[in-house]
Amino acid sequence: MASDLDIARAAKLRPIAEIAATAGIPPGSLIPYGHHKGKIDFRFIESLRDRPDGALVLVAGISPTPAGEGKTTTTIGLADALREAGARTMIALREPSLGPCFGQKGGATGGGHAQVAPMDEINLHFTGDFHAITSANNLLGAMLDNHLYWGNALGIDPRRIQHRRSIDINDRSLRDAVIGLGGVAHGIPREDGFDITVASEVMAIFCLARDLDDLQARLARMIVAERRDGSAITPADLNAVGAMAALLRDALQPNLVQTLAGTPALVHGGPFANIAHGCNSVMATRTALKLADIVITEAGFGADLGGEKFLDIKCRQAGLAPSCVVVVATIRALKMHGGVAKADLGAENPRAVTAGADNLRRHVAAMRAFGLPAIVAVNGFLSDTEAEREALNEALEPDEIAPIFCTHWADGADGADGLAETVLATIAAKSARFAPLYPHTMPIAEKLRTVVRRAYGGDDIVLSPKAAKQIARIEQRGFSHLPVCIAKTQYSFTADPNLRGAPSGFTIPIRDIRLSAGAGFVVALAGDILTMPGLPRVPAAEAIGLDAAGEISGLF
Ligand code: ADP
Ligand code: MG
Repeated sequence: MASDLDIARAAKLRPIAEIAATAGIPPGSLIPYGHHKGKIDFRFIESLRDRPDGALVLVAGISPTPAGEGKTTTTIGLADALREAGARTMIALREPSLGPCFGQKGGATGGGHAQVAPMDEINLHFTGDFHAITSANNLLGAMLDNHLYWGNALGIDPRRIQHRRSIDINDRSLRDAVIGLGGVAHGIPREDGFDITVASEVMAIFCLARDLDDLQARLARMIVAERRDGSAITPADLNAVGAMAALLRDALQPNLVQTLAGTPALVHGGPFANIAHGCNSVMATRTALKLADIVITEAGFGADLGGEKFLDIKCRQAGLAPSCVVVVATIRALKMHGGVAKADLGAENPRAVTAGADNLRRHVAAMRAFGLPAIVAVNGFLSDTEAEREALNEALEPDEIAPIFCTHWADGADGADGLAETVLATIAAKSARFAPLYPHTMPIAEKLRTVVRRAYGGDDIVLSPKAAKQIARIEQRGFSHLPVCIAKTQYSFTADPNLRGAPSGFTIPIRDIRLSAGAGFVVALAGDILTMPGLPRVPAAEAIGLDAAGEISGLF
């Protein structure tokens, strides 16, 4: 089959104004960025306030494996199929980060015949949102160090600065840095470091802000440093909020693009799914819900991790209530969860599918714990066999799950018509009784315990003495009402990435706690979570090129 980039290039894209018209966006409210991208004007979004919301469908996945699951691909295939069935449908997706694009994972615009386009532009600079977020974050850093330089009137303790610089490139050598070297004229020497832009709190704030006012209120609440007495320093103390918001203004307007089949898609914002909540902006989701009858959106990583955060953090903060969840699995990935090594995935192995189905079952249970109907979609690979599909049917029968086998990657919308039919029937049945896993009044440690038990299927948490002290302090400071965001490996329900399948009888060690006061959650670190990834030995960047006609090759 042709590469994703070849398929994307062969597709005839429609002018973005036509796509906007399909979505009910008037020409004056579309801000075009070239021929095939545009932003939606704030004033138009504001004017939609009193319209009823469409139905929200979350696409989540099993625990990721190197075999690939295809959540984005399925989000797009499903939306295209729904539109073909006559439903007014829109997509809300994350913007890709340059880190994975040049690293190992590749872009994030779907694949095969289920893609959003133009894939090269979306995967690279797009409309500049991430550059704006990087700039806002680094302006804050510059203003903080400038404040130290000019006498530190606020009394900031240079040893207690939480703010870090950011750049949207995987670059491990920037993780830890000493800045301000070179003498009196060059600043105050101190330890600093870089996070990848998508791991910055400014990104999480950008994605959770409801509007420009909320954006500024959240920026003003960020804790960037402390004084010797432990009192907080915020961007408001540094008089940085206005300038940061000015840099973010245009970026906060959601980006409109199209799928290869012409379905309107809002691709906007992209926070990490470990130390942040991992899904596209609230601005995009809420706008799409006003414009369409059905909105399909994706959560990063597995349903236990990204799905849980989407529901407990984003839906809670933004007042959203999904109608159902589609849990995406592949036969290949289930075989890996059933113990097969990546090199042996080509061989038929129904028994491994049966064993691996435990992982899928637990993700379905996690989504049902939120009161949501869960639909299982199997993203078909050409290598899947009938015996393997039959094994999965049998394995899921006791849980009353009937997996829906899809071929949208190979066939486009037609390959997901069965899935679309089930999604339509589930929305019409109105059986969702959505509630977050825990009330906001629950103490923080109890919230963590609840997520571990109800979403991961584990027994308990084990707090390090340091984490216990940090929680006590956060509660004392009046932040006990915030939801929790567990930063854990995405490859396992446990904290050990090598334990695939569905282990039981485990605890989750919480070694460190961070407060994201602007984003509005408490991050609990379970294991070593890198906020600045590195590049692999042979990065994807080495295969990317440009020809004399200006065509880019090697993106995937
Ligand atoms: P996720 O959103 O779960 O990370 P993506 O949808 O981005 O996954 O897909 C990851 C990669 O796998 C893409 O490059 C895509 O082209 C490829 N892919 C997805 N589905 C299939 C499939 N059914 N057959 C072959 N390749 C696929
Ligand atoms: Mg994805």
